[in-house]
Amino acid sequence: MNAPTEAQTLDMLQTAPAGAAALSRPTPGAPMWLLAELTYRCPLHCVFCSNPTDYAAHSAELSTEDWLRVFREARAMGAVQLGLSGGEPLLRDDLELLVAEARKLGFYINLITSGIGLTEKRAASLKEAGLDHIQLSFQDSTKELNDFLSSTRTFDHKNKVAAIIKAQGYPMVLNCVMHRYNLPHVGRIIEMAERMGAEFLELANTQYYGWAWHNRAALMPSHAELIAAEEVVDSHRARLAGRMKILWVSPDYYDAKVKPCMAGWGAVFMVIAPDGVALPCHSARMLPGFDFPKVTEHSIASIWRDSDAFNRYRGTGWMSETCLSCDEHPKDFGGCRCQAFLVTGSAEATDPVCPKSPDRHRIDAAITAADQAAGLSTPQPLRFVPGAAQGGGMLFRTDANSRALVAPDSGEVEFAAPEGAG
Ligand code: SF4
Ligand code: SF4
Repeated sequence: MNAPTEAQTLDMLQTAPAGAAALSRPTPGAPMWLLAELTYRCPLHCVFCSNPTDYAAHSAELSTEDWLRVFREARAMGAVQLGLSGGEPLLRDDLELLVAEARKLGFYINLITSGIGLTEKRAASLKEAGLDHIQLSFQDSTKELNDFLSSTRTFDHKNKVAAIIKAQGYPMVLNCVMHRYNLPHVGRIIEMAERMGAEFLELANTQYYGWAWHNRAALMPSHAELIAAEEVVDSHRARLAGRMKILWVSPDYYDAKVKPCMAGWGAVFMVIAPDGVALPCHSARMLPGFDFPKVTEHSIASIWRDSDAFNRYRGTGWMSETCLSCDEHPKDFGGCRCQAFLVTGSAEATDPVCPKSPDRHRIDAAITAADQAAGLSTPQPLRFVPGAAQGGGMLFRTDANSRALVAPDSGEVEFAAPEGAG
């Protein structure tokens, strides 16, 4: 799954309840942005996938009726944007029906897809059902790297899908997750988007959650690689002004400012996982000590307003003294709880990317390691290896790897070498 785009999150930021974090436990507004992760199934195996690494332990999926009830309840509470994501949402046979019903309810509907499974016929049916927007992901501008990073032969098909989307008259919105391997190609990625007639290109630098957390050492760019890529983006942005909007989402680790994650915990955003677990953000499932409520057992209203899970980090009552005494907390809400947990072991900690965080040294150490690795590695050329060959390196998002991460004795974790040897 690709997370909702930065633009979408920024949209929500502009509509977030003003000063919400200034109250120790504010009354929540509406869950304006509903992300429906329809399935964790996906034909691709991206090394940076933001799905939970234990997704294979959660294979149950809500029925069509359950999803429609979720949509109705969320809409009644004021939800306006509906993201349909996964895994690969096109794997759901009821996608057209879900879109049609969501449209009748008045949602603005965005399909977030790898494109695999989008035929001309299906694109037309989705258009007829009322789908507003499709976000198509690419892994790179080259077939070799695109196919390597997803461990599938999908580049050519994605190109066809881009043409199908364009032919249906959708705005062309491309997304590419950036990291050490494809940052040197950023100019070519922009030119590819230009050839496809994209109106919008999101270059989302990898944030380190989910599978990307496991692959952090392999994916993290050096400072110099990042700056060089940003300069290329700036030059293309000036050249394409008025024709294509390019959004460069910088990686949290390298940012001087802490991001207001999800516009605040439980402020505007609600994710429903494929099995009906409701989450304040798409990564929260891995946080320990939570009993995340299920939509099959509770109404959306009670989950949003009353559940411990959605209330735990609302307001300021949970904040460390570092954040409480800082003028920034009404704007950045203390940053990301998932990042805090992964890096420090405590979800209550100040976001470790913050320069004021007592754990900032952990981020600096990762950056130093990436800077040192940049001089050593020769990651090109990469090529597709059927079945993700052994050899040490990156951990692909596969069912077998997911099961092995949950129960390390249950099977072997598969690795693929960055060199693609096999
Ligand atoms: S494997 Fe890739 S395409 Fe599939 S859900 Fe994850 S990021 Fe998206
Ligand atoms: S100390 Fe807390 S509130 Fe202040 S900038 Fe850092 S994360 Fe934000």
